[in-house]
Amino acid sequence: MGSSKTVVIKGLSIGGGSPVRVESMIKTPLSDIYGCAEECTALAAEGCELIRVSLPDLSLAPNMKVLNERSPVPLMADIHFNHRLALAALGSGCASIRINPGNMSDKKGTEEVIRLARDMKAVIRIGANGGSLSRAQMQKSGGDRAAALACAVEEQLRILLDNSFEDIIISAKSSSVTETVRANSILSQKFPFPLHIGITEAGSGIPGAVKGAAGISLMLAQGIGDTIRVSLTGPSTDEVRVGYSILRALEIRHKGCSIISCPTCGRRRIDVVRLVEEVTSLLPKEIKDGTVIAVMGCEVNGPREAAGADLGIAGTPDGFVLFRKGVPVCNDTAENLRKRLIEEIGRL
Ligand code: SF4
Repeated sequence: MGSSKTVVIKGLSIGGGSPVRVESMIKTPLSDIYGCAEECTALAAEGCELIRVSLPDLSLAPNMKVLNERSPVPLMADIHFNHRLALAALGSGCASIRINPGNMSDKKGTEEVIRLARDMKAVIRIGANGGSLSRAQMQKSGGDRAAALACAVEEQLRILLDNSFEDIIISAKSSSVTETVRANSILSQKFPFPLHIGITEAGSGIPGAVKGAAGISLMLAQGIGDTIRVSLTGPSTDEVRVGYSILRALEIRHKGCSIISCPTCGRRRIDVVRLVEEVTSLLPKEIKDGTVIAVMGCEVNGPREAAGADLGIAGTPDGFVLFRKGVPVCNDTAENLRKRLIEEIGRL
């Protein structure tokens, strides 16, 4: 899966057969150092493996240093335009930076950034965004926006390669799924570097999660992508939850627990919606990765349809049945449901 080259950011390998990584970006401004540290800790608890942080101003470099010391997972500084910000981020202990060498007007300054990154063994992520394509890039690509995105990445890539720098992650994103998929398909065939993938400005809630999942899944299914971010207008922890849900659904990574639940129908004998919430709240944080729990509305199809579940529950005319790998382990009445659930979850 993914690229042939590997990069390493503070011990986190990306690409070259490493697990597909899940990342996010904090939404708290760096001026609020306590808020940033809290958000990083919450992200780490969800399993986020790399956190992008905007460094918009040189005066915030000391905060970046503090955050690097406090964050439980590696940070990637997000830099635009000014090479001094990139130097400051590296000086603040960031082992990875995201820059656009093409929009850094100072060539010598850019070379200085590349030199320092090399000395520090830091990783540089470059990328193109659908919103910043130039007229020249569009013309060169005959008006094909996906090709123009790939071309924009290549222009930046050349600057790094001309300076013999190869610890690179590349990315091409737009808010169009089809455009992003085609751009990344071109890039993955052309370059061996790890690819960061996602759909930018995907939106919020269910539509945002679906759009991100559609784009990311189409790419991962083709073996494209080494690190993912689900961009959502919402809490950053949701981005990580959705990211792992995508990887679980594609059976690429099995972090945490999967809940199978039926859509319910006129046969249901139990409040499946409420029960899913209850089961979720009872699950311990440290549950074994890959555990499958099923919540099914009735005994007619439930146990058979969820026969692979480590623990399942299905409604019956008298209450409920709990089953493990399709084999019933307990029948009881509704008032004992919570107690039995706690016992069986404890045995997982
Ligand atoms: S498990 Fe039972 S209640 Fe749920 S969808 Fe199937 S038949 Fe309907």
